[in-house]
Amino acid sequence: MRILVVEDDTELNRQICMALVEAGYVVDKAYDGEEGHYLGDTEPYDAVILDIGLPQMDGVSVVEKWRRDGRLMPVLMLTARDRWSDKVAGIDAGADDYVTKPFHIEEVLARVRALIRRTAGHASSELVCGSLQLDTTTSRVSVDGAVIKLTSHEFRLLSYLMHHMDKIVSRTELIEHLYDQDFDRDSNTVEVFVGRLRKKIGIDVIETVRGMGYRIKADNSDGGKS
Ligand code: CA
Repeated sequence: MRILVVEDDTELNRQICMALVEAGYVVDKAYDGEEGHYLGDTEPYDAVILDIGLPQMDGVSVVEKWRRDGRLMPVLMLTARDRWSDKVAGIDAGADDYVTKPFHIEEVLARVRALIRRTAGHASSELVCGSLQLDTTTSRVSVDGAVIKLTSHEFRLLSYLMHHMDKIVSRTELIEHLYDQDFDRDSNTVEVFVGRLRKKIGIDVIETVRGMGYRIKADNSDGGKS
């Protein structure tokens, strides 16, 4: 999962990004509205954290412009405590949720998780496919109840596929959502990670759809053992 953070307060921006990286996300950052708008317009993000008060272009205008141009990624706005009118303006402009400053970073993380889940059509924080379970709250993956240890790359890959169950996800899409903008994008690396992931999970849930990409089917009641 790849997230954009638009916040002009460099220290706050750094703290948010650090927490997101620790939680296993790939993060791009911007420090003003114009740069933020440009990134959100050109790169595919699974969620955006957007401050309201930004230089160049304010957060409400940024989200308004994205929505007008058909950009649908979930947006979490950061607002000042006493500015209720900002919250209304932000949500009316197309933001999905907000957090009031100052906030506990855990609240931001929880809201981001919920936004990503709901955007992918999951109400529960636990994603299940047969005997494979992914708890989005704890980032815990298990098969038949036994916890599987994954690297952050492997986790991101599995998490993306499980959030988009039943959909064929192309290699390009995976690369776009698993790496930040500075990453040298070589599609062979995806194959390598899928191979490692399959080995660790041990059950055959990740299907290769020839010439198109990968898919995890929700209806995997046999746990992929067939
Ligand atoms: Ca600000």
